[in-house]
Amino acid sequence: MGSEYSVLQHRLPLTFYFLLLTSYFLLFTSYRLPHTNSYLCAMIGTLQKQDIRKLSLDEIKAFFRGHGEKEYRALQVYEWIWMKSATDFDQMTNLSLSNRQLLKEHFSFQLLRIDKMQRSADGTIKNAVRLHDGLVVESVLIPHEKRITACISSQVGCSLDCRFCATARLKRMRNLSVDEIYDQVVAIREQSQLFFSRPLTNIVFMGMGEPLLNYSNVIGAIDKITSQKGLNMASKRITLSTVGIARMIRKMADDEVKFNLAVSLHAAIDETRSAIMPINETNTLNDLAGALQYWYQKTKRKVTYEYVVWQGINDTTEHASALLKFCKIIPCKVNLIEYNAIGDDKFRQAPESVLQSVMELLESNGITTRVRRSRGKDIDAACGQLANKDE
Ligand code: SAH
Repeated sequence: MGSEYSVLQHRLPLTFYFLLLTSYFLLFTSYRLPHTNSYLCAMIGTLQKQDIRKLSLDEIKAFFRGHGEKEYRALQVYEWIWMKSATDFDQMTNLSLSNRQLLKEHFSFQLLRIDKMQRSADGTIKNAVRLHDGLVVESVLIPHEKRITACISSQVGCSLDCRFCATARLKRMRNLSVDEIYDQVVAIREQSQLFFSRPLTNIVFMGMGEPLLNYSNVIGAIDKITSQKGLNMASKRITLSTVGIARMIRKMADDEVKFNLAVSLHAAIDETRSAIMPINETNTLNDLAGALQYWYQKTKRKVTYEYVVWQGINDTTEHASALLKFCKIIPCKVNLIEYNAIGDDKFRQAPESVLQSVMELLESNGITTRVRRSRGKDIDAACGQLANKDE
């Protein structure tokens, strides 16, 4: 008995030191991992209160019910969040103080913050948006004569590796949540009023990331932006731009979405497209054509093709004829986008005369074609230039 006791006495401190050493080792090695921030944030996140905006209306109702409160309070909260873009429970003035306190005890708002705002000579505003876990995305306000457009990010970084795009140089870090996408729109809506005294009219998903690889959150955010219990903006003023993921285009058609679809085509010959957009290896032009036919059959809505003409890459008459042929698959429009150089000599914008001849070929065959001039180039806010350069 006496000897057992003494063994235990010696064992306890040993176990204690072992545990101490192990936790020190774990902490030390994780501290040196490249994702230290997100690792620690994930740990801290588990201790944080849940963001109220992660809850559906039914879940908020269940919360109030569970606390012996009236269910209709949930609708009031929901409207404060998504219709009036509240960011604090104290703004919810039609709720009693005790209800607000109850919410504060259980939930939080994980808000994004505009770290830096840059204004271009042409009026374009670029925002560096810091997310609750410290990561940064960019969103852009583009003022036009008759409309104001918000260019929104859907992912932090991008996984697609399009050879001509600056965002591709950042690896994909994570998807944005519904509220993070919604908050970018709300911030730009406020800037639109503040700097131009005009309402935000259009939204394009042409910022960082591939929206169809974050489909459910993008759809969730569009729902909050367009619904009457949300920002009540018209779906037809929203355009989702995709690299062209065939199965997801079919899914959108099945879901009968009401917004516009733009496809970054950039080449209508497989060999060329695969060389500049690796996604084409698994989503060939034929796959894309099939998905687009399905889209048109279901939605009866035109698609817009985005096309940059690069010298020595896709500027031959053969490329122009292939583009025309592709344009005949379903009703469409073509935007010839000006190239924004990202410091790679392989890609150079074709001369104006080539752009004009592509445009004439398409127009003479009844395809509406526009040349889209870049905006915000001086602050790296143009298409494909979003890359957190100032980070
Ligand atoms: N992932 C989506 C949306 C983000 S990119 C997509 O691929 O459509 C938005 C648009 O900018 C796309 O048409 C893209 O091909 C284009 N783009 C990317 N880099 C560009 C650059 N350097 N100059 C001009 N357009 C570019």
